[in-house]
Parts: sequence; structure tokens; C-alpha cells
Amino acid sequence: MVKVTIKSKVLSKNDQIAQSNRLRLHEKGIRSFNMIGSPGSGKTSLLEAVFQSCGDKANCAVIEGDVKTDNDMQRIAALGVPAVQIQTEGACHLNAEQIESKLENLPLDDTNLLVIENVGNLICPVSYDLGEDCRLIVISVTEGEDKPLKYPSAFISADAIVITKIDLAPYVDVVPQQLKANALSINPNLKVFMTSAKTGEGIDKFADFFYAPDENNIKE
Ligand code: MG
Ligand code: ZN
Repeated sequence: MVKVTIKSKVLSKNDQIAQSNRLRLHEKGIRSFNMIGSPGSGKTSLLEAVFQSCGDKANCAVIEGDVKTDNDMQRIAALGVPAVQIQTEGACHLNAEQIESKLENLPLDDTNLLVIENVGNLICPVSYDLGEDCRLIVISVTEGEDKPLKYPSAFISADAIVITKIDLAPYVDVVPQQLKANALSINPNLKVFMTSAKTGEGIDKFADFFYAPDENNIKE
């Protein structure tokens, strides 16, 4: 029982900081995404594809979360988009305090859209509000059709999902429409996008949402 009590206190402190992050971003007119997905699901490649094919239409800034390396921050910065890296040194999720500490290092006065790429993990990042407006699950066809059924919390908490690597579907015997149907069976309100960063398929359509998400996704 003690363990349960401690965990709930940690989460509530996180939620307080998350709410303060959200207010701070809204005061500056900044909308934000929290991207959650397994390692190798294609989160960074999706961002690269959007920035490369559509440009940075919203003055974006990116916070990258990884256990080690600043590889992903370098990939984003190479496209001219301001980016900072959080190395968690073992932790498998980002928390709101880490985001708060990195906001100082970003040009917030010139930013309209903040993208937080979480540590690759489909489980515990779900429990940590970072202050985002919109939660985006990124899942590749190579992970299999049944993952929404096996990891429902991520899909319940999300506003939208991006199914990536659809060019690989024939090689891994996965039907993207079945993956989509499984996600919608968990959460019928999800917006679903099908993309391939490799071929560019679906990137424009996702970019329309990315740069102008539904008003319903702006949290109070
Ligand atoms: Mg990445
Ligand atoms: Zn974790």
C-alpha cells in the first residue's frame, strides 16, 4: 500500500508541473504535441519527412527524449528546426519537470508549435502528462496489427495516431486497415493517419493536421 501512495504523489506533482507547462506555452500562443511510440516506430523519421516535404510552416521547436545520445536532436537541427535533447540516463519516459527545464533553451517567443518526442516506449510515457495539447501515438506496421489491443492505455489516452512504414506492410503480412480498425476499437475518437516516410505517402495529409490540429485538441 505504501508503494501505491508514493506513486500517486509523484504523479500528482508531475501533473502540477505539466499544467504549469501548458499554461506557460499557451501564454506564448504555443500548441504542443507529445509523440509516444516504441523504439524504431519512426517518430523522428516522421518529423523529418514533414519538415523536409512541407517545410516548417509553424515555427516549430522540438524536444527529443532518449536514454542516450543526441542523435535525434542532431537530425532535427540539421533541418534548421530548433531542437534540444533530454538524455534520461536510463529512465524510460519523460516527465513534466524535464520539459520545464528545457523550455528555457528554446526560442519560445518565435515558436508556434512545440513537438516533444518521448523516449521510445509504449507503456509508461502514457502515465506522464507533459503539458501537451495533443497526444500522438506513432506505430509502425512492422509492430503488428494487434498492438492496440495489447497496449490499450496508449491508444485510450491519445488524440491521434500515425501508422508508419505502410510501404513495408506487404513484407510483414500486416494489413494497415486492420491495425487501424484495432486502434479504433479501443478508442473510436482517434484521428488516424497512414504514412510512409520512405515514399512520402500520406505525409501531406498528416502535415495538414500537424500544422493545424483540430481546435478540439487544444486543452484548457
Ligand atoms: Mg527518435
Ligand atoms: Zn518509464
